[in-house]
Amino acid sequence: MGEKILSIVVPCYNEEAVLTAFYEELHRNAGLLSGRVSCEFLFVDDGSSDGTLSMIRDFAEHDSSVHYVSFSRNFGKEAAIYAGLQHAVGDYVVLMDADLQHPPEFLSDMLNALLSGEYDSVAMRRVDRKGEKRIRSWFSRRFYGLNRRISGVDIPEGATDYRMMTRQMVNAVLSMPEVNRFTKGIFTWVGFRTLWIPYHNVERTAGSSKWTFWGLVKYSMNGIVAFSTIPLAIASVLGALCCVSSMLMALWFVVKTLIWGDPVSGFPTLITVILFLGGIQLLMIGILGQYFSKMYLEVKHRPMYIAKEEKTAERKD
Ligand code: UDP
Ligand code: MG
Repeated sequence: MGEKILSIVVPCYNEEAVLTAFYEELHRNAGLLSGRVSCEFLFVDDGSSDGTLSMIRDFAEHDSSVHYVSFSRNFGKEAAIYAGLQHAVGDYVVLMDADLQHPPEFLSDMLNALLSGEYDSVAMRRVDRKGEKRIRSWFSRRFYGLNRRISGVDIPEGATDYRMMTRQMVNAVLSMPEVNRFTKGIFTWVGFRTLWIPYHNVERTAGSSKWTFWGLVKYSMNGIVAFSTIPLAIASVLGALCCVSSMLMALWFVVKTLIWGDPVSGFPTLITVILFLGGIQLLMIGILGQYFSKMYLEVKHRPMYIAKEEKTAERKD
């Protein structure tokens, strides 16, 4: 049996400012793994509009262990991760950001945990969010709390996408064909034994984060819709509550009229109730719409990404 291979998958979107530093740092740390595994570097260029692709081509020209896939446009990090996992040939695969926020120093420890055979996956967890905007951290925490409660996939606080997995787990992740991919949820959903390693947040070395506030809101909504059907049940619960309270109210009006007699009044009550019910109905239609639109996109079976250019290897099984 030949030497085991570790594939290092790096999604990149407009990372020219940091890519060279990242590659050098990665290369140095990957060198320390020699003897245990040999490394494949797999860059996924997510439709960058800057010099990212030409830099990657350049790496590949000088180093035969560098492979890449380049998308025809920006398809998003989730698609880039999927493409990376698909094309990785390694017995182990690790996902890493290109901005050095996922320090390559940890590769060695992560690999050891997998080689020990005790774990199927090793993932990094940030214990703080130093250097991140307060408001973003606050919303992130709320989102993971909410997600944990309603979807039953327990994503630990501060979980990152920096994760090393065995081939078996990679294949399990690839066997989930959904287009609306919430990768963090998928990793938890497929199970397997995961070791969580805590670390302190590292700020981006150069370039800027690709996330906007609304991008993150959309990401969170996707995450919930992808893994939970509980929001759909809210309609039934609210409906039942409305029925019960309307019966109680009807009873109360009968009693009131019998005892005191009742001149017709109550316009404010009426309008409040109408607005309240109208509001609930629209909200529920909105929630239904969320699931419906996701279903619509799933049934189209569109590819998750379109590759324009690639230099990859075949996996020998
Ligand atoms: N990324 C990507 N496609 C995108 C956005 C981001 O491949 O549409 C990559 C990006 O190049 C980086 C990683 O995903 O390697 C994390 O992105 P970023 O640093 O912007 O996110 P943050 O660290 O702020 O969560
Ligand atoms: Mg980053």
